[in-house]
Amino acid sequence: MSTFKAPKGTYDLLPPDSATYLAVREAIAAPLRGSGYGYIETPGFESVELFARGVGESTDIVTKEMYAFETKGGDRLALRPEGTASVLRAALEANLHKAGNLPVKLWYSGSYYRYERPQKGRYRHFSQVGAEAIGAEDPALDAELIILADQAYRSLGLRNFRILLNSLGDKECRPVYREALQTFLRGLDLDEDTLRRAEINPLRVLDDKREAVQKQLGDAPLLRDYLCDACKAYHEEVRELVTAAGVVFEDDPKLVRGLDYYTRTTFEFVHDGLGSQSAVGGGGRYDGLSEMIGGPALPSVGWALGVDRTVLALEAEGVELELPATTSVFAVPLGDEARRVLFAKVTEMRKNGVAADFAYGGKGLKAAMKAANRSGARYALILGERDIEQGVVQLKDLESGEQTAVGMNEIVAELESRLG
Ligand code: ATP
Ligand code: MG
Repeated sequence: MSTFKAPKGTYDLLPPDSATYLAVREAIAAPLRGSGYGYIETPGFESVELFARGVGESTDIVTKEMYAFETKGGDRLALRPEGTASVLRAALEANLHKAGNLPVKLWYSGSYYRYERPQKGRYRHFSQVGAEAIGAEDPALDAELIILADQAYRSLGLRNFRILLNSLGDKECRPVYREALQTFLRGLDLDEDTLRRAEINPLRVLDDKREAVQKQLGDAPLLRDYLCDACKAYHEEVRELVTAAGVVFEDDPKLVRGLDYYTRTTFEFVHDGLGSQSAVGGGGRYDGLSEMIGGPALPSVGWALGVDRTVLALEAEGVELELPATTSVFAVPLGDEARRVLFAKVTEMRKNGVAADFAYGGKGLKAAMKAANRSGARYALILGERDIEQGVVQLKDLESGEQTAVGMNEIVAELESRLG
């Protein structure tokens, strides 16, 4: 061990477990790639102001969880706590919305940072795969995203997750509801902090996880009863499209989310095997966000799925992903000349798309064969002095134990055909 440890609230991804993380990222991305979403990558940090305006001044993310700092040049920056504001900023900056092809559909994958109290499933550095569809108001788009997330989780073999769905209304009906909720909250026995929150952002109080608060919210007015006709019709259409796709969801009239920018469709994916960190992903429509960060009106919808919690969900369900061995062939040279000849063969195999590794470090036969077995390779290629004289190499099937001599010039083709 060195003097240093990973910072509090973080952990390293190491082989072999890291392969699961990669597979999860890929499984989430695959349905997006197949549905017209293009890959976007933005910087790991942005102007503090982008998140203050785009996520919301009164949110936990901005007030408590942001890693904000001043650069030597005097810029106020923050490590990104989430992806949506950055992606929208980038799309606007590059005028993607003016290319005449709306919605602009983008997906991303990366690291996010929040200064939280670390616990299982809650880290200070975590990873998300997300999708955003920018510039279209169409219930089919909201439905598409919900269906794709469901498809991603199912493709991983997850079953014990639930989709919670709600509508947060729009700028017509939400203010009316906000008033009603505020009036209700003012009459409750709440601590000072919570009362203050009720004044700034009353919907956030509904999201309070404390039991003492939740107990008092039983009779809180529900947004559902305040939705305007347009929002009601929109929501009904989303529900029908998702249902028609065979995707099961639960209406959750109390679902609100931690970010200020959500409007209308809001959803969360929760997993029942994760204890209190049960949200594996979430998203929704954010029709006002573009204007909040100085852009034109661009109704949009998106989601972000947490990779760390998805991996925990797989563990909770006992799902083991079928990860193909990364190495197919492991080469074992016996002696210096064999090392040169076999190393050249390994290079040739790799160029031909055969995943191959090599016994480095001048290992003896026994240690080298052990390494071959550990590598997960199906075949070992063993080359000794006599093999060189005879122009052959020993091909050993590590599954059956069967060994055959194959001509040095035929070995690459032989392996290609055996490995299919
Ligand atoms: P929570 O209510 O658990 O704090 P959130 O509403 O803050 O979640 P989002 O901002 O919606 O989370 O982020 C989307 C997903 O990213 C979450 O569903 C979760 O899987 C993951 N996520 C968020 N914060 C963390 C974290 N600190 N550590 C690990 N994963 C996280
Ligand atoms: Mg949070």
